[in-house]
Amino acid sequence: MEKQDKMADITPIRLGMDSKFQFKCHKGVECFTKCCRGINIILTPYDILRLKNRLGLSSEDFLAIYTEPRLMEKTDLPVVTLRLLDDEEESCPFVREDGCIIYKDRPTTCRYYPVGVATLTHKEGADDEGFFFFVNEPHCRGFEEEAEWTVRDWRKDQGVDIHDEINQEWTDLVVRKRSFPQNIKLTDKSKELFFMASYNIDNFRRFVFESSFLTRYQAPPETVEKIKTDDIALLKFGLEWLKGLLFNYENFEMNMEQQTVSIKENHP
Ligand code: SF4
Ligand code: SF4
Repeated sequence: MEKQDKMADITPIRLGMDSKFQFKCHKGVECFTKCCRGINIILTPYDILRLKNRLGLSSEDFLAIYTEPRLMEKTDLPVVTLRLLDDEEESCPFVREDGCIIYKDRPTTCRYYPVGVATLTHKEGADDEGFFFFVNEPHCRGFEEEAEWTVRDWRKDQGVDIHDEINQEWTDLVVRKRSFPQNIKLTDKSKELFFMASYNIDNFRRFVFESSFLTRYQAPPETVEKIKTDDIALLKFGLEWLKGLLFNYENFEMNMEQQTVSIKENHP
């Protein structure tokens, strides 16, 4: 996983799905778990969903205990990163000497490593097809091991293709917002709704079922029934709703030559 400051000056080499690399990570490497310290991991909506279920926490509690809020560079969108321990090495809270204690539910960025995803790390040039690059950390000895992968095979092996499929609408929102001119800003209310539908799935469920939401936004009865209990269906539903909401110009503020023009909001 990359450390943001260290990576800021590195020009990413663009990789495609069929780009090849040599890599293997296992308990025998001398650097085992070094990449789980001093890191910067942006969590995706599906990461939060899996982790909070794994730990038996509500999304609200998981966010409070394990995450730090941030604004994603160039998009002005509120995201969260994994909160590191306050120890000398700034360790991930889930790392132990013999590895990751939540390995089966590890976040998207951990699964991709040593491949980075430009969309998540706001590299220049990330577009609607995204792109991949190597996270070249000198301490990682995995590149010396004999195993060859394409990016495509690596994604499948690590189960990250499923994460990407579920997060697709969210990634599209991020890329689309990044393509907007810098003076087009989301209103605070829109940012709150983006955060809730992306990350706080339990609150979003209450918002859908305990407000006037369903009288304002009509959804097929079978969808309404499903999202009562199915977190993944609710996440996908919420992201689809966000797309319609955020790219409606009523929800933006435009800063024109020092003047901020607020445009009327129309939220439930
Ligand atoms: S080989 Fe690389 S990915 Fe594996 S533990 Fe070492 S630093 Fe981490
Ligand atoms: S979640 Fe697991 S794999 Fe990812 S940084 Fe933490 S310990 Fe390492």
